[in-house]
Amino acid sequence: MDFGRSAAQQERYARMSADARKLASASSAAGSGRDAWKDLARLGLLGAAVPQEYGGTGFGALDTALLYEAASEGGADTGVLFAAAAHLFACVRPVIEFGLPETREALLPALCGGELIAGNAMTEPESGSDVSRLTTRATRVDGGYLLDGTKSFVSNGPVADLYVTYATTDPDGGYFSSTAFAVDRNSPGLVAGAPMEKSGLAACQAGEVRFTRCFVPDDRVLGSPGQGQLVFQTSMQWERSCLFAIYLGQQERLIRRCVHHVGERRQFGKRLAELQPVADRLADMKLRLESGRLLLYRACTEIDAGQDPSLWVAMAKLAVSEAAVATALDAGRIFGGRAFQTEYGIEEEVRDALPATTFSGTSDIQRQLIARELGL
Ligand SMILES: Cc1cc2nc3c(=O)[nH]c(=O)nc-3n(C[C@H](O)[C@H](O)[C@H](O)COP(=O)(O)OP(=O)(O)OC[C@H]3O[C@@H](n4cnc5c(N)ncnc54)[C@H](O)[C@@H]3O)c2cc1C
Repeated sequence: MDFGRSAAQQERYARMSADARKLASASSAAGSGRDAWKDLARLGLLGAAVPQEYGGTGFGALDTALLYEAASEGGADTGVLFAAAAHLFACVRPVIEFGLPETREALLPALCGGELIAGNAMTEPESGSDVSRLTTRATRVDGGYLLDGTKSFVSNGPVADLYVTYATTDPDGGYFSSTAFAVDRNSPGLVAGAPMEKSGLAACQAGEVRFTRCFVPDDRVLGSPGQGQLVFQTSMQWERSCLFAIYLGQQERLIRRCVHHVGERRQFGKRLAELQPVADRLADMKLRLESGRLLLYRACTEIDAGQDPSLWVAMAKLAVSEAAVATALDAGRIFGGRAFQTEYGIEEEVRDALPATTFSGTSDIQRQLIARELGL
């Protein structure tokens, strides 16, 4: 059992952490538009978990997670990293694992290079946690399918060129009722809605995607017809582990800022660091970070070993997302009134952390998955 990073991992981590500052300034200068995607590609964040033959780096889950953690720890914007992670784990990974060879060749190099942006379109207005009852239908026609329905919370939706989406093909098929598709934005019958207003992860635009008799050719089916749940759950194993490494980096950064702050600020004639309740709060923040980190690295290691990672992935997602929210709120308490002044950036960290317990399956759903693994 080895809990340390290898020399190569440590070197990549340090380089990414340093480069992240450039990404932060480049992204804000570019308004998180197409230029930001080129920056993400240049730093290797879009191609990390993509085989080298398609232009990627060929990393496994653990090395990919470390890159995202380092970028976040180094100060890259959480929304920008979330956009990249949603693209890579929920869209690019399904194309790698379930796309036909010609589909992989056609899409993956551009997805790695940031020329194509992807969005994952699963959620519907009436189908959030319960992804087994999709009202979006795919009707078989000559040479492909016609999609009809509305997807409601598509991260990258307003800017994406490609959507990985899921539709019911056999309403009575139970686990095999849905099918996964990779759909071009310019397909007739596809309309991407305007960016919705939301309170966090501002750099990642999100919106609706509507399909009206939208034709998708057979070569854009991911996996076999009826394998939609398998494709989605496989992509979620990557997302629920690697994406949440962003929140390890965020916690690391917040703890560092809090340690600095309590070392400087004086009240009652003492540094805040000398007040036991303040030090206890920081100890709890560190404990949460390191507990979640161990679970997340373990989940990634299970994926890389080709084991069933379900238990570890659900525990990692639950622990890291809840820790992110608790630690952002604790940072708010430690900064006192300054936490509400936007110039300190703490309230933005809270807003960016809050949705982590909701997307990629809520905390309640992760507890259900853990209970299922216990045989309950
Ligand atoms: C920032 C952000 C980005 C997102 N990006 C995407 C994206 O790119 N693509 C996409 O498809 N979706 C995306 N989503 C949507 C997200 O996946 C859903 O919000 C999530 O799955 C929950 O669904 P819901 O919002 O409909 O809540 P609901 O399913 O209505 O749940 C509401 C509450 O009820 C609880 N609940 C529901 N069912 C159960 C149950 N069986 N047992 C116990 N409790 C339960 C939930 O835990 C939650 O607390 C995103 C959401 C957010 C906030």
